[in-house]
Amino acid sequence: TAVIRLEDIMKTYVMGDAVVHALDHVSVEIGVGEFTSIMGPSGSGKSTMMNILGCLDRPTSGQYYLDGKEVAGYSDDELARTRNAKIGFVFQNFNLLPKLSAQLNVALPLVYAGIGEEERLERAKTALEAVGLGDRIDHNPTEMSGGQRQRVAIARALINDPAIIMADEPTGNLDTKSSYEIMDIFKKMNDNGKTVVMVTHEPDIAEQTKRILTMRDGKLVSDEWRADHV
Ligand code: ADP
Ligand code: ADP
Repeated sequence: TAVIRLEDIMKTYVMGDAVVHALDHVSVEIGVGEFTSIMGPSGSGKSTMMNILGCLDRPTSGQYYLDGKEVAGYSDDELARTRNAKIGFVFQNFNLLPKLSAQLNVALPLVYAGIGEEERLERAKTALEAVGLGDRIDHNPTEMSGGQRQRVAIARALINDPAIIMADEPTGNLDTKSSYEIMDIFKKMNDNGKTVVMVTHEPDIAEQTKRILTMRDGKLVSDEWRADHV
């Protein structure tokens, strides 16, 4: 079953005389448990696609069904609630709070979810152990390597047990070794049933996913299933 279904999505920006179709008639389905990467050159629409898939932005036209429900009719509040319940985000720049410990960074989404402090800290500790940082829970991000910071960010994305993980260039600021470690964590999450969607412009990274969508000039120009996964 499709967890994500885009039907004829357009995202159009008008700036003076210039009209840019950041997304141009994009239709695609992503099934439960898929591990998909979105590739394409700079300016091809990858970020715009992620913003719409992640309910951070709305399309100009077309339908977006998330878990079978069309999200266009949602109010901003409903959109935010849906996002918080269903999607965990991972960013290129980690987006961690530098003055909070790893444990407090990971626990933060649970504050908004109304969970008490003791449970928050316990769950954050467990999540950090799951990404191999059980011995670093008191460290601040500033005391960590890029790969460790990204593992903290992944633990934070998983803390609410979302069905979908969306990652925008998650290995973009990492060396090769850390990139592969991060990809191993995404693979493990996917093996555990999470649907993972990731933007990357690195072919080596995309080749570790099960399906590669390629964009150019706002259009989806190729949809390739990796042979070793079919
Ligand atoms: P990518 O992530 O592949 O680099 P983007 O989705 O960021 O591509 O951008 C796709 C196109 O849409 C580009 O031409 C970009 O300049 C344009 N674009 C993206 N966001 C905006 C915006 N907020 N206002 C105007 N143009 C935008
Ligand atoms: P990325 O490195 O992820 O591709 P971009 O540099 O393409 O990011 O875009 C960063 C942010 O700026 C995005 O949120 C995008 O929507 C916005 N943006 C991109 N191009 C433009 C533009 N021409 N005008 C205004 N905003 C833009």
